Amino acid sequence: MNIIKLQQPGEIVFGNGCSMNCAEALQSLNARQVLLVTTKSVLARSKNILDSLANSGCTLVGTELVGPEPTRAQFDAVLERARKLSFDVVLGIGGGSALDVSKLIASLARSSQSIGDTFGIGRLAGREISLVCIPTTAGTGSEVSPIAVLLDEADKLKKGMVSRYLIPDVAMVDPLLTLSVPQDITAATGMDALTHCIEGYINKFAHPTTDTYALRGIELISGNLLKAVKNGDDSDARANVALGSLLGGLCLGPVGTAGVHALSYPLGGQFRMAHGVSNSMLLPHVARFNLPQSPQRHADVARAMGIPCNGDTMQTALRGVEFLEKLSRDCAIPQHLADFGIPREAIPGMANSAMQVTRLLKNNVRTVTESDACAIYEAAF
Ligand code: NAD
Repeated sequence: MNIIKLQQPGEIVFGNGCSMNCAEALQSLNARQVLLVTTKSVLARSKNILDSLANSGCTLVGTELVGPEPTRAQFDAVLERARKLSFDVVLGIGGGSALDVSKLIASLARSSQSIGDTFGIGRLAGREISLVCIPTTAGTGSEVSPIAVLLDEADKLKKGMVSRYLIPDVAMVDPLLTLSVPQDITAATGMDALTHCIEGYINKFAHPTTDTYALRGIELISGNLLKAVKNGDDSDARANVALGSLLGGLCLGPVGTAGVHALSYPLGGQFRMAHGVSNSMLLPHVARFNLPQSPQRHADVARAMGIPCNGDTMQTALRGVEFLEKLSRDCAIPQHLADFGIPREAIPGMANSAMQVTRLLKNNVRTVTESDACAIYEAAF
C-alpha cells in the first residue's frame, strides 16, 4: 500500500445554510479585517453573508472581483492592490476561479515572493493571513485542496501551484449557494467534480482512504448531476452534487488528478475552454486509453455509477465509459474539440504542451507519450 499524507482544512463545514455561520468561523480565527475575493455575479448574491459579518463586528477592508479562469496578469493586479491593504483574513466566495485567487492572495499578500516564484510543488514560503473559502459552484473542490491554478498567458498553459499553505483554515460548503448556478455551468462544474473523483480512484497513487471518498463521490455525482442540470431548484440533487464535489476535492491533495487534467490544461490555456468542459470532453477518451492498464478499477467506477456487473470486468468498464459519454451529452456539454472551433492542426502543439504537465501525468496509471496525447486529442476531435 502507498504511503498517503492527508492534509485538510482545520474545519470543514457542510450543509444547507451553513454559510450564514461565516462570522463564527472568522471569530474562531480571531479575524475581523476582511478582504473579500469573489466574482461579480456571486457578490450580488452574497448580501446575507456580508450583512451577518457586518453585524458581528467584522470590517470589509476591500472587495476584489475575479473573472472566470483568472490569468497571471489579472492575479498580479489583485496582489498589488492587496499588498497596500491591512487585513487579517481573506474570505473567498465563488467558484474555483475566485477561491484560487483568494488562496494565493492570503499566501502572498505579506510575502515578497512573486507569483512566478510559486508555480509547481511546495514553493510557497508560508502564509500569515487566515483563509476562509465558501464555494458557490460544485465544483472544483478548491475549498479543501492545496492547489491553485492560473492561466499563464505567455506560455498559453494553465499552471498549478501546490502547497499546504493554500489549504484554507475553514471551508464552508453550503449547497444552497449553488441553486443559482446556470445550467451550462452546473453541467461543466459537475463533470469537473466527477473527473476529480474518477482520477483520484484511477491513479498510480490511489489509496484506500481516498478510494472511499472517490467512489462515494462518483456515486453521488453520477446519480444527481443530470437532475441538478435539468432542474436547478432540486435542492437534494444540488446537495448531493456539492457533497460529491467536496469528496472529490479531498482526493486532490493526497493523490491528485492525472491524464485528463494534464491534457485539459492546453485547451484552457490556448483556447480558453472552461475547465469543466475540457475535462468532460477528454474524460471518456483518456478512460479508453487507460482501461487496458486497470480494467478492474474502471469496472469499480462503472459499478459506483450504478452499472450492474455481469461478471465480465472489461465489458462493465466499457459500459462505464459509455455512461460518462451519455451523461455529458445529456448535460448538453460540447463533445468534440471541433465543436469548439479548435483546428486539427493545433493537436501536435497541444500534445507537446500537455507533456509539460508532469505534475499530473506522473499520476496516470498508463504512461502517456506525446504521440499518445495526439491520439487522445484526435479521438476527441
Ligand atoms: P468559475 O469559478 O470560473 O465560475 C464560472 C462562472 O460561474 C463565473 O462567471 C462565476 O461568476 C459564476 N458563478 C459561480 N458561482 C455562481 C452562483 N452560485 N450563481 C451564479 N453564478 C455563479 O468556475 P469553476 O469551474 O468553479 O472554477 C474554475 C477554475 O478553478 C479554473 O481556473 C480551474 O483551473 C480551477 N480549478 C481549481 C482547482 C483547485 O483545486 N484549486 C481544482 C479544479 C479547478
